[in-house]
Amino acid sequence: MTYVIDYVDEKLMHVLFDNSNHDFFCWNSNCATKRNGTTISNGDPETGKTSLTADGYRSRLDKAGGFSQIWEIVKDAVQDSLGENRGSMMLFLDDLPIHLGAYHPLGTNNIVLNRTLIQIVEAATKSKRLVNAFVYSLLVHEYIHALGHVSEADARNLVYEISKKCFGEDHIATRLAKESPWTLLRDIPLNAIEMPKRVMEIVKDFEKSNQKYIV
Ligand SMILES: [Zn+2]
Repeated sequence: MTYVIDYVDEKLMHVLFDNSNHDFFCWNSNCATKRNGTTISNGDPETGKTSLTADGYRSRLDKAGGFSQIWEIVKDAVQDSLGENRGSMMLFLDDLPIHLGAYHPLGTNNIVLNRTLIQIVEAATKSKRLVNAFVYSLLVHEYIHALGHVSEADARNLVYEISKKCFGEDHIATRLAKESPWTLLRDIPLNAIEMPKRVMEIVKDFEKSNQKYIV
């Protein structure tokens, strides 16, 4: 059994992933609900002005054409906010339980994103802007874990602070970080959705060229 980091809905469950048979084991964790950890300044503390880069980040996320372009934004946002970076990450798509957005197996370069969930968000919102913000929210969370911030509370706090600094408090990415990415799907009866189980696939050239959401 290998303990892995996840990103789940507001129930804040942690997941054990059994490498031998790909079964998931979930349990509730009530210990990590408070925000703590590093605080990132948002713009000039004296003038209170938000970052001048916010317009640039917003525009880039709105226009991003796939996983690799969103990933570039994730890496830039983390670098600008925390001064931390890590290369050679790989992205996989898999059909996961619907309340699990993504996970990062500790000790690997891998992030696994829930393909079914992304497709549901695409169908439900019909908005590239919202889908991009959703994917950004999941990827930046897993990237923070991959950079060594293992605590779930720390990761959530950092994702919120990074998003607030780069996109501004009122942007959808920051709202998703503050509340939950699942707020986009509040009105969708997720438990009633039949989930096809397809093979896991790797997103080619994740760190380089464009890649459509659904391969
Ligand atoms: Zn997490």
